[in-house]
Amino acid sequence: MKICVLVKEVPDAAVEKRIDPSTKRIDRSGEKNLNPFDTHAIEAAMQLKEGGAVEVDEIVAVTMGPESAFRALHKAVSLGADRSIHLTDEALTNSDVCATGYALAKVLESESPDLVLLGQQSDDGECYTIGAVVADHLRMPSLTQVVKIGVHEGKLRCERQAEYGYDTVDVGLPAVISVGDAINEPRYPSLKAIMGAKKKQLDTKSIADAGIEADRVGSAGSRTAVLEINPPPPKEPGEIIEDDDTNATVEKIISWLDERKLLA
Ligand SMILES: Cc1cc2nc3c(=O)[nH]c(=O)nc-3n(C[C@H](O)[C@H](O)[C@H](O)COP(=O)(O)OP(=O)(O)OC[C@H]3O[C@@H](n4cnc5c(N)ncnc54)[C@H](O)[C@@H]3O)c2cc1C
Repeated sequence: MKICVLVKEVPDAAVEKRIDPSTKRIDRSGEKNLNPFDTHAIEAAMQLKEGGAVEVDEIVAVTMGPESAFRALHKAVSLGADRSIHLTDEALTNSDVCATGYALAKVLESESPDLVLLGQQSDDGECYTIGAVVADHLRMPSLTQVVKIGVHEGKLRCERQAEYGYDTVDVGLPAVISVGDAINEPRYPSLKAIMGAKKKQLDTKSIADAGIEADRVGSAGSRTAVLEINPPPPKEPGEIIEDDDTNATVEKIISWLDERKLLA
């Protein structure tokens, strides 16, 4: 079985998120890191490989991103991927979700994976959508919010986390599965794996290499446009109750909660 894992380079969690008013896009100029949600997808691939219920020949990390995104691929390889693919091209700048999903699907098509794994969301765009778009292009079934993957009679038996509980779904391969962050506890890479990651095969592809039609990506190929950005409305200041007399304080808190119908 060949597993491709989609990974994305995102602004580091410690960097305050900012929209650049001139481009209306996220300012990605600061420190960057591998999208933390994607470490769960890599770990899920590793657990399938190490679990032994299916034979996993290869785990391939795939990203679409600017030149710097190779670092996210190194991290993915240090966490267990065998090799990686970096789709990077000036023509991809300004791609929206549809264009990004199409471009990633073209790269995946050339790899013919049995299973595509990805994170539930990116830490920057947070669209939760790429899995479905990629699956549609590849004509593969798509599952989201998967928190358990097992093998049952030649299919994958997955548990999906839902508001009302769990769905248990059997899915035939090939398939696209986005995993929830409750699926596992990602491992930390060893120093040896971090050092070794730079020596593993990394293929850099342009849109021409991947057979991507230029007018289906970038601004030209994107069907959405950000028209306006507005800061969230300022929060009303909270009410501070000084505790001079505890009985009176409790009364005040109870009436505050009662006014807002927060008491059963
Ligand atoms: C008009 C417009 C212009 C934009 N321009 C840019 C731009 O110039 N540069 C830019 O970086 N973003 C740009 N974006 C944002 C970009 O479209 C989204 O980040 C991208 O489509 C993925 O959506 P998401 O990050 O919310 O993914 P989600 O659907 O939240 O991500 C789910 C999972 O998909 C996988 N994934 C997501 N993106 C990638 C990727 N690129 N490579 C590999 N795996 C991935 C990861 O596993 C991730 O966990 C733009 C968006 C719009 C609407």
